[in-house]
Amino acid sequence: MFINERTKPKELLFYEALAARTALTKREAKDLSKMKKGYEGEILYDQIFESIGHDNVIIYRDVCLNIDNSVTQYDSLIVSDKGIISNEIKNFSGTCTVNNGNWTLNNFPITKVPFSQLNRSVGKLMEMRNISQNDFTVSGKIIFPNDTFVFNSDDHSNWNKIILRSGLRDYFRQFNHSGVRSGHKAQYISRIISSCIVDNPYFTLQADKIRLKYGLYCGQCGSFNLSKKRFHLTCNKCGSNECNETHMLRALSDYKFLFYNELMTRNSFLEFIDNDIPVHTVSRFLNKHCFQHQKGNMSNYTFKYFDFDDATKKSDAYIRYKDY
Ligand SMILES: [Zn+2]
Repeated sequence: MFINERTKPKELLFYEALAARTALTKREAKDLSKMKKGYEGEILYDQIFESIGHDNVIIYRDVCLNIDNSVTQYDSLIVSDKGIISNEIKNFSGTCTVNNGNWTLNNFPITKVPFSQLNRSVGKLMEMRNISQNDFTVSGKIIFPNDTFVFNSDDHSNWNKIILRSGLRDYFRQFNHSGVRSGHKAQYISRIISSCIVDNPYFTLQADKIRLKYGLYCGQCGSFNLSKKRFHLTCNKCGSNECNETHMLRALSDYKFLFYNELMTRNSFLEFIDNDIPVHTVSRFLNKHCFQHQKGNMSNYTFKYFDFDDATKKSDAYIRYKDY
């Protein structure tokens, strides 16, 4: 069973929010498309695993573990009574060739060699096991879920370390056999993993305010050209209507990832949305969708949800049908 939701990486949310409000540099646009592709690979992995079934194992998705004071990110950890299998998901497309240990993808050298990443992350899990003085197996595979990916290697032992799309269903089926169980031992391993989970410390991106276009934008076409109605904003470009609350949630999510380490006050948020929603409405929604923290005589707010998608799923009183 999947133990946690897979959310979009913070870097992807940052670049998406940035792209909505400024022209990206070439480098940023490249990073955004790389992040997007990586995330699509993870979603594909989840969908295929879901279609095979995974009731006999416990699966952690996209977690950062602090093991002996160093933090490693894991795309997927599959836990059973036997131990932990780490799956690194690489959504590569095209032809990959390994020759004398040198990796190329579509004839370009790969600097971050996937096997060394896998060895390192599996090594850290072994360290976690040893620190907890336990006895279970730890192993890992690199998963290439993209069906356009072709792998050539002069070293046949590499084939044991990877799973291609054509073999992915069979690979997942082995976890669905009755011999695989997640009983007491798996629960125990799972508690060790959970105790190591930390927030991703490598997310340090911060938007430069001068570059950003403030205000609200259409969720359909991205235009900032909106007409204010009493409860809605109507897009003058594509004609779609979104209620104030939808705009508020999207802007709160954008703010969170663009200024992740900054405090958000009501005034800084009003400035961010260029006062496009009346102050009393903003106050009401801040109280509904944020946690309020008092610092001296200033209040600041943190978004209750992970991102906009999460907010539209979880926000109890939020009714999406108001958008049309
Ligand atoms: Zn529009």
